[in-house]
Amino acid sequence: VSDRLTDKSLFRSESFIGGEWVAGASSFEVTNPANNQVIAEVGDVGEAGARQAVARAAEAFETWKKVSPFERAKLLMKWYDLILANQSDLAKLITLEMGKTYREAMGEVVYGAGFIEWSAEEAKRIHGETLATPFPGSRGWTIRQPVGVVGCITPWNFPNAMITRKCAPALAAGCTMVIKPAPETPLSALALAELAKRAGIPDGVFNVVCGDAQKIGPVLTGSPEVRMIGFTGSTQVGKLLMRQAADGVKRVALELGGNAPFIVMDDADIEKAADGVIASKFRVSGQTCVSANRIIAQPAIADKLVAALEARVSKLKAGDGFADDSDLGPLVHMEAVTRVDKLVQQAREAGARIVTGGKRLDGELGGAFYAPTLIDGGDPKMDVACNEIFGPVASVYRVESEADIIKLANDTPYGLAAYIYTQDVNRVHRLTEGIEYGMIGVNAPMVGAASTPFGGVKESGIGREGGKWGVEEFTELKYVLLGGV
Ligand code: ADP
Repeated sequence: VSDRLTDKSLFRSESFIGGEWVAGASSFEVTNPANNQVIAEVGDVGEAGARQAVARAAEAFETWKKVSPFERAKLLMKWYDLILANQSDLAKLITLEMGKTYREAMGEVVYGAGFIEWSAEEAKRIHGETLATPFPGSRGWTIRQPVGVVGCITPWNFPNAMITRKCAPALAAGCTMVIKPAPETPLSALALAELAKRAGIPDGVFNVVCGDAQKIGPVLTGSPEVRMIGFTGSTQVGKLLMRQAADGVKRVALELGGNAPFIVMDDADIEKAADGVIASKFRVSGQTCVSANRIIAQPAIADKLVAALEARVSKLKAGDGFADDSDLGPLVHMEAVTRVDKLVQQAREAGARIVTGGKRLDGELGGAFYAPTLIDGGDPKMDVACNEIFGPVASVYRVESEADIIKLANDTPYGLAAYIYTQDVNRVHRLTEGIEYGMIGVNAPMVGAASTPFGGVKESGIGREGGKWGVEEFTELKYVLLGGV
């Protein structure tokens, strides 16, 4: 790995606890999914490492919470500058450990750093209010204080940005962190830790513990010092963490799975809608929680939409993320290829038409590759419609009435992102109000930004990341009444 990096010291394979690099008693392998080769052996610090990190974070909280927000903002901006100065190395680590194209990875680093910049600015705008009170001779006010130590468990699909999106607002608010990155992608997390150290973020404020989730997770959810659990990942694990956190009545912020409808109405600009599907569905090979999962088209324009999609999907090229002509990188690992292929073959057996793709490319390309796939004429009860695909597979469903479209869009336990393509402002209002989703892109295939609230309803999660809401999540509201004035 380090051969690829300009700054070799950004490649770390030990956990970062209390400002020190800590090796584990055992280790686990990190592989490059583009060729299935081992790229690193990372130490597993296990339960003991997690306990140590929680203790150091609790200790650091006592001083970090008292550092002025202006000073915290300055340190965050130093971290931000260092991340951008090392953008290409951080992007290379992302491509190496999870496969997305280098172009996408470069974008992720900027997107992720954006949360640090925003949070640094927002740190100065955390404040309380004065209140009207019914009690004679009294004054009331609120203050906002940091929640405390936050335990974070992050996924592999955005190894860099899923960490900054949680840590930047938490640190800005005065919290300290223990982060457990996904086992597939610890290198990006550790490089961020190295840069946090260089930025002068005090020891113990930002800790990264690598290792077995089933050992480290319960330490985070079970320690009384940890006041909040931030998680992005599957709904199944999110529910488990919420149950574990319930014992200590810890705050939870959960960003879980999705099953995004991509609704194309008959008055939509079809070329733009097709471009939107490509951007939403095939970015990161379809491995984002906001990826379009069900393309719901009105029958009058469905054939035209499928033709426009076929022209685009059949041209997409899967390949090593470092190759200039790759549009899509591999999936995260071979199990993902098998899982996605099963969904596609089930759709084929259910009578849907595979317009293009529909096959594994691992044999041909020597890594965890799957062909960019378009499915038409599917039944919305198929597995590929009811499950989060997390792969480069677009599937079109034809539905006539607006009422049925809303019903189908809501016929899922999830409610993260949705997309609507229409030129009719009345439809915009009816549809955006009728569908149960936390984020809706209207004629826009990508909604996430540092300034906007990211999060879902129903089983897609609790809480919002980004914007002022993202910072508020990491604060407690305290009310004070002063009597006898
Ligand atoms: P995916 O299936 O996409 O890997 P997961 O929800 O399994 O999604 O993983 C997201 C994060 O949750 C990863 O960091 C993973 O290690 C962690 N994780 C998985 N199982 C557990 C668990 N039982 N307790 C705590 N964290 C877990």
